[in-house]
Amino acid sequence: MTSDDLAFDRDHIWHPYTSMSEPLPCYPVVGAQGVHLQLADGRQLVDGMSSWWAAIHGYNHPRLNQALQQQMAQMSHVMFGGITHPSAVALCRRLVAMTPAPLECVFLADSGSVAVEVAMKMALQYWQARGERRQRFLTLRRGYHGDTFSAMSVCDPDNSMHSLWQGYLPTHLFAPAPQCGFDDCWDEQDIAEFAAQIATHAGSLAAVILEPIVQGAGGMRFYHPDYLQQVRALCDRYQVLLIADEIATGFGRTGKLFACDHAGIAPDILCLGKALTGGTMTLSATLTTREVANTISNGAARCFMHGPTFMGNPLACAVADASLALLQEGDWQTQVATIEQQLRTALLPLAAHPQVADARVLGAIGVIESRQPVNMAAIQRFFVEHGVWIRPFGKLIYLMPPYVITSQQLSQLTEAIKAALDHAELFLPG
Ligand code: PMP
Repeated sequence: MTSDDLAFDRDHIWHPYTSMSEPLPCYPVVGAQGVHLQLADGRQLVDGMSSWWAAIHGYNHPRLNQALQQQMAQMSHVMFGGITHPSAVALCRRLVAMTPAPLECVFLADSGSVAVEVAMKMALQYWQARGERRQRFLTLRRGYHGDTFSAMSVCDPDNSMHSLWQGYLPTHLFAPAPQCGFDDCWDEQDIAEFAAQIATHAGSLAAVILEPIVQGAGGMRFYHPDYLQQVRALCDRYQVLLIADEIATGFGRTGKLFACDHAGIAPDILCLGKALTGGTMTLSATLTTREVANTISNGAARCFMHGPTFMGNPLACAVADASLALLQEGDWQTQVATIEQQLRTALLPLAAHPQVADARVLGAIGVIESRQPVNMAAIQRFFVEHGVWIRPFGKLIYLMPPYVITSQQLSQLTEAIKAALDHAELFLPG
């Protein structure tokens, strides 16, 4: 890439959550292989982000490439209305078999946010079909579910700036964020406010929606499995649907195949995305029970009212099926457990560092919460100079590497974080 390309990028192309007038620097990447990103100037960076939870098998994986090439030779895309194809059937067969038993009907869509829209719509149509006017959702503070409007309406009100959309965004109910950490002793008080809210509002609630165990983009917080177990029990007791957003946590990242497995529960509706295609391309799936699907289908609309143009895209389905096959054949459990052990050894002692407010690890996720927000441009440059790709936000410096990372590569990541903490200029005051 030329400096002219970079100037064009800066002047004309929006990147996630950036200003068009004062954009942060972007690093030109021209290749990705295994756990390395290759910069245009030839430097190789060890990737600590898996491209936001997605590239679990590493980049440019031959099995995923082969699946894409084989599918491409047949057809890249065909509409899903009135048509089906082998890759969609193979993928959905696998998804139904991998996920908890009651989930057996699959809706394929384009992205995580759309999977959440679909899940919320399913809940709304379900109650409509049952002749009940239930149009509110109960969720948790510090949650994150995507950037489309319905998804945003159940994100943390402060983090996603609900004030910006006042009057436009539907208003839902928020219970406090769980305080009891994954490794803490369970405290019954933690669920009290949630229990009170569901008891009060059950008659108007379509569903509870939450990220099971790990609240990701809203704070990288790990909460107690008993909390999730009690949410399931309360949803059963008050007959409210439970939507689990496993878009970030699904497919092994937390040490279990799905984060719900930590609590031994199954949701009524499950959202999957990100690692579904091994990070190759965008695809999401929303799964639900036969009961929810049949009820929707017997309602006034006689169908589920959603059908994106690229629904069930054959390339995406083929690569997702190959990615899940790799996961099922492979050694992800040992890989994630080994990463977890090393992250614990390397990161948890950093809790004693004066710059650090908290250090926590779950599965292949390691988080350092600093006392001050990072200086984004400065810390990003520091990490690149140290040969690693780590992209913090706010006070959170975190790792979620591809499962195939070696111990030495992982050390490079944790050493870079450790070194950064000693540089006060990489953090903003206050
Ligand atoms: N839900 C969760 C839990 C997520 O982490 C994300 C993405 N960070 C989304 C939904 C939205 O997914 P997408 O960015 O693919 O729309």
